[in-house]
Amino acid sequence: MPVYEYRCAECGALTSKLASVKAIPSAVECACGGTASRVVSMPSVHLSKGSKVARLDPKYDAMVDKAMRNTPAGDPDRLINRRGDIAKGRADT
Ligand SMILES: [Zn+2]
Repeated sequence: MPVYEYRCAECGALTSKLASVKAIPSAVECACGGTASRVVSMPSVHLSKGSKVARLDPKYDAMVDKAMRNTPAGDPDRLINRRGDIAKGRADT
């Protein structure tokens, strides 16, 4: 159910009300006793992680690629180097 917002004509306070799309009240009673009429408010959209990543500015792609290259996991020779350590370990024993 969506949340609708109402502005009081008496005190100006904003009131939120959860209501069914089929029965949207055009006005609700404010805490001060005045009548609050419905106002158009910004819709709230919740994005998934994938959508957030897809909406990132492309200029960050180069920054992420550069950062990944500087990590040990970004070294293309890491497996060859590890294999050397293992071979050396076996030679010691
Ligand atoms: Zn009020």
